[in-house]
Amino acid sequence: MMQRARDLDAADPIAHFRDRFDLPEGVIYLDGNSLGPLPKASRERLHQVIDAEWGEGLIRSWNELPGGGGDWIAMPQRVGAKIAPLVGAKPHEVIACDSVSVNLAKLIGAALSLNPGRNVVLSEPGNFPTDLYMIQGQSQVEQRLAERDQMIDALDEDVALLLLTHVHYKTGEMFDMERLTRAAHDVGAIVLWDLSHSGGAVPVDVNGANADLAVGCGYKYLNGGPGAPAYAFVAERHHGDFSQPLTGWFGHAQPFAFSDEYEPAEGVKRLLAGTPPVLAMAALESGVELIAEIGMEALVAKSRALSEFFRECVADLDLDLVSPRDPAQRGSQLSFRHANAYALSQALIARGVIGDFRDPDILRLGFAPAYLRFVDIAEAARHLAQVLETGEWQRDEFATRAAVT
Ligand SMILES: *Cc1c(COP(=O)(O)O)cnc(C)c1O
Repeated sequence: MMQRARDLDAADPIAHFRDRFDLPEGVIYLDGNSLGPLPKASRERLHQVIDAEWGEGLIRSWNELPGGGGDWIAMPQRVGAKIAPLVGAKPHEVIACDSVSVNLAKLIGAALSLNPGRNVVLSEPGNFPTDLYMIQGQSQVEQRLAERDQMIDALDEDVALLLLTHVHYKTGEMFDMERLTRAAHDVGAIVLWDLSHSGGAVPVDVNGANADLAVGCGYKYLNGGPGAPAYAFVAERHHGDFSQPLTGWFGHAQPFAFSDEYEPAEGVKRLLAGTPPVLAMAALESGVELIAEIGMEALVAKSRALSEFFRECVADLDLDLVSPRDPAQRGSQLSFRHANAYALSQALIARGVIGDFRDPDILRLGFAPAYLRFVDIAEAARHLAQVLETGEWQRDEFATRAAVT
């Protein structure tokens, strides 16, 4: 397997991008789906923004600085425009701001504004918790949940919004975005896709699927840094009509007119609420630029090749794969069910193989294609085999749960 891994690395057209990341020695990082690693350019970029733009430019940096740089005021749109092609959107349909959670609240409100007279939001049980919590937090909304194989049957003319996560965070299962969007539109519902585990990892074409709304995460496959701003998409055809509940001054048509009356800005700019976090936005921009430079086509091909190679390497182990077997039907991850998944994940981490655990019994391994090598995959598989064979995971030290798993 090791020789085959080396051959695959030698033939990998994007192998050299690994050097653009700062990865610690002795670590095989299979958790880029939870927190992407540090791009070397982001460290440089943050230094420059801190020293030149904040330190020297001070408040002048909100506008473009004479020698270039600054222009902080335009960052949400600029970064959104760079994310747009990664998910099949037009540049002016995406904006970077706030967290996924906050954007969900805004876009659920936007969906209701586009579909007056309806108040049901349909989703699936076991969706990412914040997606469900944000539905439950809207007092005028009635939540309806349906299992995925009954989702289309659960759509009727009471449904204002179908809110689904494209790639399931736990199992890696992927919804057919085009098919579900069409089914929702057939009953007059709006569709909101959560792309947190999709953007930068799997093919996404929001406009090809005719999606209405979407949100996605900045700190996973886009490598924007811990707590990076998220992004939100509103299809151009809705730009004239939607409103959203968090009507802050940055979403005003003329924030610096300091008017008493709220008047929404054009298009997705209306989604802004308050002042953007400039340092976090700069790190996100740098992460997105790197993913865009590598290109989605090459990333998707390698993502599939890496996870398929891992399956080959562990074919002889007694493992219960819960992710779909067809790589085109899953995200860039493999999830295995094991009664002692937590202890297993801890034993692997002790060996430098960082994956994660998702309650109650899932060992989740992410295969972010921008920096992983096939030799890492073979090594990770070898460690997993040894941890299982030796029963090493049964040690007491691997049983205690930390606050973040
Ligand atoms: C990671 C993730 C989020 C994160 O939400 P935040 O508000 O940014 O913490 C939301 N939804 C899904 C599906 C996720 O995977």
